[in-house]
Amino acid sequence: MKVYINGKLVDEKDAKISVFDHGLLYGDGVFEGIRAYNGRVFKLEDHVRRLFRSAKAIALDIQVPREDISAAVIETCNANGIRDGYIRLVVTRGVGTLGLNPYQCEHSQVIVIASAIQLYPVELYEEGLSIVTVGTMRNHAEAINPRIKSLNYLNNVLAKVEAINSGVMECIMLNPQGFVAEASGDNVFAVRDGVLTTPPCWCGALEGITRATVMELAAERGFTVREDVLTRYDLYTADEVFLTGTAAEIIGVTTIDRRSIGEGQPGPVTRELSERFHAYVRENGTPIK
Ligand code: PMP
Repeated sequence: MKVYINGKLVDEKDAKISVFDHGLLYGDGVFEGIRAYNGRVFKLEDHVRRLFRSAKAIALDIQVPREDISAAVIETCNANGIRDGYIRLVVTRGVGTLGLNPYQCEHSQVIVIASAIQLYPVELYEEGLSIVTVGTMRNHAEAINPRIKSLNYLNNVLAKVEAINSGVMECIMLNPQGFVAEASGDNVFAVRDGVLTTPPCWCGALEGITRATVMELAAERGFTVREDVLTRYDLYTADEVFLTGTAAEIIGVTTIDRRSIGEGQPGPVTRELSERFHAYVRENGTPIK
């Protein structure tokens, strides 16, 4: 595998960065997870825009024009013969001192890894996911805003630890007000009476690119789609709950905190949107060659 680091494609074994990089020392940096489907990179420009917004929010100067970042993603897919896969685009603060001061890091580092995708086992898309709500709350927006896709994912990692320790693979995180924010690595939707509701970003949700695509596809299909505050009550009593994310795509949730949701299997809205999503991703995206 070839990995892109700062303008060069190097062998996997040579793909190394300094132990003084603040990405490692402090989780100081930003990233994107991107998919390639059918020889196209899905929503590449949206991912690059979000990357630059995250960087701006943490006062990180990427020092490389947006077009070059997009080109680096395509180049890395090409170098690895990727037509369907998962791309990790990372920008770290770069090499600095052992102190926190980010302004002493001269050059941000741009890394692109293009590889195969690890999905949930296929049966789970048929059967639906069991999840729990966890005690680890989503970061307060005035601590680390959840809209920033930063390399500091400890908030999500701690939530994931709780989920796994409870015997499930994913969880719902609440925000400091007790409202539903999102899953540890995905956005969440509740469906009731044909109306789709997802928490607004101010409730602690990432501006998910899959979330936005699903909202568009659902609206096109004639569903009412709303951003609104959700509580656990809304999830427990929903007809359907599903999660969305670049890696997971759309996955139905069939139990939350051991309470069964809907009919105990992914419902018709989840299934229909999944089909539409799969058809859409095959035809839309930036061609790799
Ligand atoms: N929330 C979190 C915390 C995430 O890390 C992700 C990405 N894995 C998402 C939501 C989904 O965002 P996207 O659809 O852009 O992948």
